[in-house]
Formats: sequence, C-alpha cells, structure tokens
Amino acid sequence: MSILVVDDLPDNLNLIKTILQADGYTDILMAHSAHEAFDYLGITDDRRRGATNIDAILMDIMMPGIDGIEACNLIRAKERLRNIPIIIVTAKTDANDLQAAFAAGAVDYVKKPFNKVELLVRLRSVLKLKHEMDRRRAREKELHEVTRLLEEANRTLYRLSSLDGLTGIHNRRRLDEFLAVEWTRSVNEANPLSIIMADIDSFKAYNDTYGHLMGDDCLVQVANVLTGTLHRPSDLVARFGGEEFVAVLPKTTAEGALVVAERMRSSITELCIKHKKSTNSNCITMSFGIATHWPGQKSTPADLLLAADWAMFQAKRAGGNMVKVVDINMDTHLYDKHCSIEDI
Ligand code: GH3
Ligand code: MG
Ligand code: MG
Repeated sequence: MSILVVDDLPDNLNLIKTILQADGYTDILMAHSAHEAFDYLGITDDRRRGATNIDAILMDIMMPGIDGIEACNLIRAKERLRNIPIIIVTAKTDANDLQAAFAAGAVDYVKKPFNKVELLVRLRSVLKLKHEMDRRRAREKELHEVTRLLEEANRTLYRLSSLDGLTGIHNRRRLDEFLAVEWTRSVNEANPLSIIMADIDSFKAYNDTYGHLMGDDCLVQVANVLTGTLHRPSDLVARFGGEEFVAVLPKTTAEGALVVAERMRSSITELCIKHKKSTNSNCITMSFGIATHWPGQKSTPADLLLAADWAMFQAKRAGGNMVKVVDINMDTHLYDKHCSIEDI
C-alpha cells in the first residue's frame, strides 16, 4: 500500500507520516511540492513511470508554485493516473475552494488542523473503494479478453466447420448455406443461378490401383484446380462428398456455366494425373453436369442439385470426360421424365 503525501510544510509531512506509520502504512512517499509529486508520478518525465502503483494521494491546497488544485488537474489529465484517489488535506474549506478541488478530481477532503482518526478513516475508505474499483476493472479486462478469445475461437470453429478436412476447400455444409443465400438473392434480384456438379471418372479404380493415400492426394489436386478455374469472387466451389464437387455460379446463365465447366474439364485433363485403369484416358478425367435456375421458375436448391447430378450422370453414361447441360422444366421434380439434355 503506497501513499503519496504532498505538502510544502515539512512539519505537516512528518506529522502525517507518523500517523500513517502508526496505523501500519509502511510505504509513504513525501513530496514538498507539486513538482516533487509529479516526479514520483512520472508526470514531468514520462519515461519514469514507476510510481503508478501509488494507491492514494493526500494533497495540500496551498503550496507555492503549482497549488493543490492545479496539481489535481494535471494528475487527472494523465489517463494512467486517473484511478488514484486524491484526498485534499486543507485549511481552505470555504465552498468555492472545495468545489474547485472536487471539480479537479479530488474524491474527499480533510480539514486542517486534522483529526487523526478522521484522516485515517477517510483514507481507509478511499483505499477500499479503489481496491474494489481495481478489482472490477481487472475483472472487466478479464471478461473482455475472454470475450475476445471466444469470438476468435468461434471464428476459427466456423471456418473449420465450413472447410473440408482433406482438401481445405468449402465443405457440403458451407455449400448448402451458400446456395440457400444465393438462391434467395437470385430470386429477389431476378438473376439466373447456375451450378456445376463434377465427379471424377473411374475413381474407385484409381484407389484400387494406386491406393487410398494417392487417391486422397488426387482429390487435393483436383480441388485446387477446380478452385483455380473460378475467376469471379462471387463463385464458390465445394467438395460435395467423396469424389464429387459442386460449383455455385451466381448471376450466371447455362451458357456461362458451360464455359466454366469446360475450363474445369480441360484443366483437369491438362493436370494429367496418371490413371492407367481409366476407361476413357490415361489420366484422371471428370464428368460435369450443369443446371440453371431461371427467374420465375418454381423450384428449390435441392431440385437444382438433383438436376445437375442427373446431367452429370448423363455425361458419365456418354463416356465421361464431358459436360452436359440440363434444361429443366421446373414445374416437376421428375427429371428423368421432364428433363431434356442438350449437348452444347
Ligand atoms: P464413375 O466413373 O462412375 O464416377 O465411377 P467412380 O469409380 O468414380 O465412382 P464410384 O461412386 O463407384 O466410386 C467413388 C469412389 O471414390 C469410391 C471411393 O473409393 C472413392 N472415394 C470417395 N471418397 C474418397 C476419399 O476421401 N479419399 C479417397 N482416396 N477416395 C475416396
Ligand atoms: Mg461419385
Ligand atoms: Mg466418380
């Protein structure tokens, strides 16, 4: 417990020191002027900031040079000293002086010549208050830090829960979320929305031939290539599951999606991951299905995914390594009856 006593009269300083020591205070700093007090507080030289652990200040008002009220003002002006309680110890107790002292930030006053018990009681009271305030501030700081850490953890969790563990691209959960949002936007803004369903050809044979670790590595490379083919920030590609990927292309017609899917198809063939058991090439290839939602169509995101999957299946049936586009009559869910495939 460190108390700073400021008074220009050495007798006053010594008396207060004796009283405080008799009451058990051991760390008492004595300043004969405001300047000397500022030295203790590191106000004159900000590099000397050692004395911020002062718990209370007993301040005389009438002092040559800077008086007690001005000293209070200067101490309060420093953010790091703002919480140190100042008790004015003064013979000047007319209303104006006291008003000026409280306005300058003093929290209490003791009238000179002072009563020893009153001085100690008032000091103990402000110290108790300061202790409580410090505790609250520390708790607030702690809470603030915990909140910050929680928010950070939540962001990390959200990121992790929306990424695919193997490939690092978006996962199915994120895809569903993204598609739902973009779907609503496309309806509200009357824009087309296309999706591409992509599936690796003969991937089971690849795993059987080269092993699952090579299979995993292949999935990572494919995911990277597919991501690299999307040039609009508004597009998203996700791992749909297994060796299937889905790209969502907002504000994109079937023709536009076809360009993107063709770019994906040729990028994968150019990647040329060796696959000697492939049924259509010596390298890994993919089949693609495109479905587009047009403004005014009655359908759901699930309908669109189903339609794209169906188109992708037609690409497989036709030999793989190709893109098929489905033109959906969205008044029905029976795509096998109502969808027509166009080989664009
Ligand atoms: P198709 O040309 O008709 O698409 O045949 P396919 O063999 O690619 O498809 P199929 O659905 O028969 O098999 C998919 C295979 O994908 C099965 C499994 O071995 C593999 N696979 C799915 N997920 C993973 C994965 O995370 N890692 C690895 N290495 N393989 C996976
Ligand atoms: Mg598949
Ligand atoms: Mg496959």
